[in-house]
Amino acid sequence: MRATLLCLLFILLCSTNGFAQADETSRSWNQPVKPFRIIGNIYYVGASDIASYLIVTPKGHILLDSGFLETVPQIQQNVVQLGFRLEDVKILINSHAHYDHAGGLALLKRLTGATLMTSEADAALLSAGGKGDPNFGDRFAFEPVKADRILRDGDKVELGGVTMVARLTPGHTKGNTTWTTTVKEDKQRYNVVFAGSTTTPGYKLVNNPSYPNIVEDYRRTFRVLKSLHCDVFLAPHGNFFELATKSKLIEQGKKPNPFVDSKGYKQFIEDTENAFEKELQRQSSQKLN
Ligand SMILES: [Zn+2]
Repeated sequence: MRATLLCLLFILLCSTNGFAQADETSRSWNQPVKPFRIIGNIYYVGASDIASYLIVTPKGHILLDSGFLETVPQIQQNVVQLGFRLEDVKILINSHAHYDHAGGLALLKRLTGATLMTSEADAALLSAGGKGDPNFGDRFAFEPVKADRILRDGDKVELGGVTMVARLTPGHTKGNTTWTTTVKEDKQRYNVVFAGSTTTPGYKLVNNPSYPNIVEDYRRTFRVLKSLHCDVFLAPHGNFFELATKSKLIEQGKKPNPFVDSKGYKQFIEDTENAFEKELQRQSSQKLN
């Protein structure tokens, strides 16, 4: 009996792992960390580097990004630890359809019954379970999930008096999305930017048949990001916005709130834009040789 159970468990684990072949580095991004309130009604419920945000409203909550499939139990625990209920998550939104941010969306949708809202291009990649990615091909597949609402640039997601605005910032994925909202804390209003990913991890920027306009998309994305007014800077990876350092400061009760960091936001755009242009130049000159 016990052996049968173990065997069943093994099969179950293998079948879920079939969707998530995370490497060592990715695993190191997925270490459990203590959840905490970032600012206003925004809470951090993700892992050590893979971010996930809970935006709390009186009519239920919005959850931004699922992490890996293996991040979901952490998110679940974090939400409860903060005194909220996972069942109260009414809307799921995402930064981009890569397995480290979207791998758990299908499971979260089942657990919460929430409505999934994404950009059109990301909806396509999500429903393909990450297969046919213009740069990764079928390498980082995850459980496919269907979006319930398609968002265009500037569309609003509204719940319980909270408005999240979707800004399309394609390049990293064709449907890569940056989210903005405002929060109130200590009688002050702050503009929050959940910046989309702007890195080019091993991407083919020159003559990419699966993504011919990748360069134009990145450049437009940098323009859009520069046009946003950002007080509170957040992103899909903790290392983009010094999550580890800032969360420690928050725990120590540091004022002003360390996540209010417009300088860090500008620096992030400048750094990743420079890295993008440098990589583009490298690939272009290689082509000429
Ligand atoms: Zn990514």
